[in-house]
This record gives sequence, structure tokens and C-alpha cells, in this order.
Amino acid sequence: MLWIGESKNPIKKNRKTDLVMDSTINYYRSSRPQLLYQAGRLFLDCGAFTARQQGIELERDKVARIQELFMPDKAVPLDYPFTPKMSVSVMAKLWEKTKENIIFWQNSTKLKDRIVPVLHSWNKSSLVSNLRWLQKHADTDIIMLGSLVDPGFSEFTGFFGDRQPRKELVDMLSFGIEYVKRYTDFEVHVTGLGSSPLTLHLAYYLGADSTDSAGYRRKAAYGKIILPGAGERYVSNRVARFGTSKIEDSLELMWLKKCECPICKFHPELLMKDWKARAIHNEHVIKKEWQLAKSFLEIGEDAYEAYLDRIYTRSGLSYLWEYTKLRKKYMRISEAIFGGK
Ligand SMILES: [Zn+2]
Repeated sequence: MLWIGESKNPIKKNRKTDLVMDSTINYYRSSRPQLLYQAGRLFLDCGAFTARQQGIELERDKVARIQELFMPDKAVPLDYPFTPKMSVSVMAKLWEKTKENIIFWQNSTKLKDRIVPVLHSWNKSSLVSNLRWLQKHADTDIIMLGSLVDPGFSEFTGFFGDRQPRKELVDMLSFGIEYVKRYTDFEVHVTGLGSSPLTLHLAYYLGADSTDSAGYRRKAAYGKIILPGAGERYVSNRVARFGTSKIEDSLELMWLKKCECPICKFHPELLMKDWKARAIHNEHVIKKEWQLAKSFLEIGEDAYEAYLDRIYTRSGLSYLWEYTKLRKKYMRISEAIFGGK
């Protein structure tokens, strides 16, 4: 599944046919929080990761109250992500607080049957025991991968950050997904990988059941355009060059001419001027990539691999793709040894 990121300042008000991902933190300071769009289904994150980055401390009861007000289909109980240089004992204590909140959400809120707990761990044995705890106590069929780190982790290895495709991301994903599938029967949501075709495919290829894309908006706001089928190539800062004669024979223009989103078809000039137009284009491209991923997963792995061979080579990240295939092979071997679910 792919959940499309939406926010307080919605790109589209009518999202009745969409799966929408939003975050409680977007409404945390509102005196009268309300959703300004209609969602087919709503997945409401708690916003802990963003809060931590911004140095905001979220109050449990307030987060729960906002979530109860919106009554999303899926709600993430307030969790406590790790930051670099935290000691093992601090991380273990934070996990205790995360667990307390999961129980609180289950027992003391109206969100009982809707929760998506976040998994955090600080080494392999905590990964296993934390998963076992969730399997035993969390009343849900889906969990979210949070910070799965090793002691002494750095900013670079610990978090998805802005989720650039790189080895650490592949390690964390393949490792996390493998363990969830081995020790539990949960589905896995990996947050934030639907913002570029490359990370989106990485997630699904490695076995994630769903991801979300808020980055298509952020990228649009920074002047970036996601190109159909073109992996991580963005027009980015070169948007300003549109309209000059040079762009006429560029590869980028060829791709945009093929794009069937309402902006490229009817108002391509808006791509330069209006970030919301870029966001509509970006969303269209990401949804198309998700459709592709879905059909490849149905057809079979060989076809999917052939497609990913092409897009990763084109983006200059062949080494990462080769590494991903190795990790996947390793996952399969360990599955054979340890058994499936
Ligand atoms: Zn377009």
C-alpha cells in the first residue's frame, strides 16, 4: 500500500479515493484542530520524529486527544525515537515509555483497534525481544519500523533522515523486515520511503507491506520535480532553466512530455511557478511507480529486478542495487534456515 502525505494546507481537498498519511504534529498547535480535506482512509502519525528534530516535547494526552478528534483508520501511539550518542540504558528507558503509551492507547483511548505501534531497538537481541513484546501485547496487525540502531550509532547510520538511498538504509530495511517476518505475523509499514521512485521500490522489493510519501510535497516546495520512471533524477534547481531553448532537447523534457498528470498535460508552465502544481505532478508520478511496483510484485521477482536494474543503473546507483539483491538473497537463505512466520 502507498499512503499519500497530506497536511494542514492540503494539496487536494477531495481525497476520498486516496489513502492519506498525515501527522498529529501538524495540528498540535491549533486551538481547534480540524482536517481540511476528506480522506478515503487516514493514517495519522504521532509526529514524534519531527518533534524530536524540532526540540518539541509532545504531551501524550494532547496527542491522543487530537487523534481521537480525527478518528483515523490508523493511529500511531506517541513513541520515543532515539538520537545519536544515546546510551543503551537511555534507549531502553525510552522503549519502556513507548510500550507504556501503546498500552495506554489500547486501554484508555477510543483508538483501541486502530493503533500502529512503532518498533525501536538498539541491538539485535533488543530487536528480537521488542518484537516479541509487540507480538504478545500489541493489539494490531501492522507495525511501523522506527529507529533500529546499534549502540554508538551516528546520525548517518541511525535514522532514515531524509531517506536517501544508501547502504545503511538497505541494511536497516532488510534486517528490520526480515526480523518482523521471522518473529511475528505483523505487516510492516516503513515510513517516508514513498518520496522518490528509488526508495519506494527499495521498500517494496525488500518486502515492506506499505510506505508513505510526504516528501513529494516537500520536494515540490523546494522546486523539485520527480520524473516518471527516472529514479532519483530531479529537475531540482534547474527548474528555472525551463523556457530557455536548451531544455528543448533535454532528457528531462522528454520525460515530462510523456507525463499524463493534469499539470503536464494542460498547464506545464505551472511546473515552474507553482509548488502545488509540482506537488500534483510529483504525486502522480509516485502513484504510477506504486502501480508499477504492484504489478511487478504480481508478475514475479525477475520482471521487477529487470526494471530495477534499469532505473538504478540510470541513476548511477548500480552498486547499491547489487548490494540490495545480495541482502535479499541473504534474507531468503535465513528464512529457509529459521523458517517463515
Ligand atoms: Zn506531470
